[in-house]
Amino acid sequence: MLGLYVHVPFCLRKCPYCSFYSVRYDEGTAESYTRALIRNIKEYRGRGLKADTLYFGGGTPSLLTPAQIGDIIEECRLAFTLDDAEITLEANPCTVDAEKLRSFRAAGVNRLSFGIQSADDGRLGFLGRLHDYDTAVRAVNDAAAAGFENISGDIMLGAAGEDCDTLRATVGELCSLPLKHISAYMLKIEEGTPFDNDKVKSLTADDDLMSELYLTAVEELEKRGFMQYEISNFAREGYESRHNNKYWECEKYLGFGAAAHSFSEGRRYCCPPDVKLFIESDVQPCEVTEAEVNGAEEYILLGLRLTKGISLERVAGYFCEKSAENIRRLAETYSKHGLVILDGDRLSLTAKGFLVSNSIIAEFIDAAYS
Ligand code: SF4
Repeated sequence: MLGLYVHVPFCLRKCPYCSFYSVRYDEGTAESYTRALIRNIKEYRGRGLKADTLYFGGGTPSLLTPAQIGDIIEECRLAFTLDDAEITLEANPCTVDAEKLRSFRAAGVNRLSFGIQSADDGRLGFLGRLHDYDTAVRAVNDAAAAGFENISGDIMLGAAGEDCDTLRATVGELCSLPLKHISAYMLKIEEGTPFDNDKVKSLTADDDLMSELYLTAVEELEKRGFMQYEISNFAREGYESRHNNKYWECEKYLGFGAAAHSFSEGRRYCCPPDVKLFIESDVQPCEVTEAEVNGAEEYILLGLRLTKGISLERVAGYFCEKSAENIRRLAETYSKHGLVILDGDRLSLTAKGFLVSNSIIAEFIDAAYS
């Protein structure tokens, strides 16, 4: 079934490490943007399409009012049915209170994803976040009290002199909250962001420390029942993100809003990152980013991000028997180094393998063609 993605590119202030497209929030623009979203979603009425996930990502979707979010959900229900759907809203802890969370729940949101990043206020300050840890704890607890039982939290690895002990403290803190899902991302200094300077770089983890931090995060989270299911994602049993799984399992999704991406009919396309253009266009503009997606390569590329990995039989189906055999032989070598697990027909990467996933996956794809 389809996944739906709604991009909400508004933030209160730009975080210095962030390279995502977003503009400063203002009430009037947010309202015009909401109406433009609804106008575009409405285009799909009457086509008999069904979706089972809806994801509000950003930016900071929790800056929209519960009424605006409710109107968008309502139009999605009319256009796509949305039976038994997972409806996620990304939220910044300092943009919600108990009342607003109750209203989001009443509007139909049933999963929240909070950008917590760290349990250490010094580190949150370094990252330029607007919340302190107490605010994040209050937001998560208020969400649970409002009836959200599926709550996720993000952690950022490697900021401001972080070591394995401080990371263990953050993981321990987050695991004591009523969260069912945790995403752990490695801080990456993106070119052209305010963080792209030597002083900041000297305060963030280098490659060796980042590897240690990542392996520590995997170990500490799994010890507490958050099992890794993707390079950066961990969940209690049954709480993997249904929406994000669609990306990694090459399922179709439609994106709405400025900078939203879509994958449908074998091609990838996106709406240009331009709020004004999106609001002023009758139908959202579309730029094709990949006209003909190579499904065989994508199966390896995206499937190996997941701990359940890929089936060599399916690889043989996509390519040929010889390709699957080449991959198996290469995997046997990597498994001796603890980078992959080869279990009958299944091939997956270990946590250590995820650290070098780009090069390993590229080699598996080369092996499929040789
Ligand atoms: S709140 Fe999120 S999207 Fe907005 S600037 Fe910060 S990191 Fe980027």
